[in-house]
Amino acid sequence: MIGCDCDVCHSPDPRDQRLRSSVYIETPECSWVVDTGTDFRTQALREGIRRVDAVVFTHSHTDHIMGFDDLRRFSHARGSMPVYASAETMADLERVFKFAFNKSNRVPYYLKPEPHIIDAPFKLGETLITPLQVPHGGSWVNGYLFSRADQKLVAYLSDCSAVPDAIVDLISGVKVFIIDALRDTPHPTHLSVGEALNAAARVRPESTYFTHIGHDLPQAAESRLPIGVHIAYDGLKLRF
Ligand SMILES: [Zn+2]
Ligand SMILES: [Zn+2]
Ligand SMILES: [Zn+2]
Repeated sequence: MIGCDCDVCHSPDPRDQRLRSSVYIETPECSWVVDTGTDFRTQALREGIRRVDAVVFTHSHTDHIMGFDDLRRFSHARGSMPVYASAETMADLERVFKFAFNKSNRVPYYLKPEPHIIDAPFKLGETLITPLQVPHGGSWVNGYLFSRADQKLVAYLSDCSAVPDAIVDLISGVKVFIIDALRDTPHPTHLSVGEALNAAARVRPESTYFTHIGHDLPQAAESRLPIGVHIAYDGLKLRF
């Protein structure tokens, strides 16, 4: 956090230095990113990302969309950039990034979005992507379940204040559950550690990773979490 003197902001553990929440998924057929936050460019450079075939958005808060224009590098390489989002999120993207969605006066290396409104499960390559509507304070946002060959591999709920029973049913038994856990104390728009643990106990995944972590929660707090529950960190890679 800017201008903060707390222990986590000054921690010697590099895993306590966190950029905005996002995931990049590589499959044999194609690769995509979930959200392009303010740090997208830094993250793409750090990880040496050469290919993005699509972008899938959870919601339009600034920490999830403000790196959108940096997709131009990948959009130019493939001719356009498929953008998957709810109708509400797409409307926000079209307003904020009007210059990109505006079809006139287009320079070749500009970002050329190809909007796809999500209202049902869809496929990218052989991966089935199921939208998971969850409350995020006063609004509803999308999380996603990624399945391949009828196997529930990853459920990603980066921003939520509750996990409704219907969503628990959809993702029950998933291999990896990535769940919002901002801090120990309750927050109006994000899950606390206790609430995230409760969600994990209902979902019963093989393993759980906390994400969207605030500076109140050090990486070292992982040692007091139950077995199978981890605090994710920037650059973490999971392979299936
Ligand atoms: Zn701090
Ligand atoms: Zn948010
Ligand atoms: Zn967020």
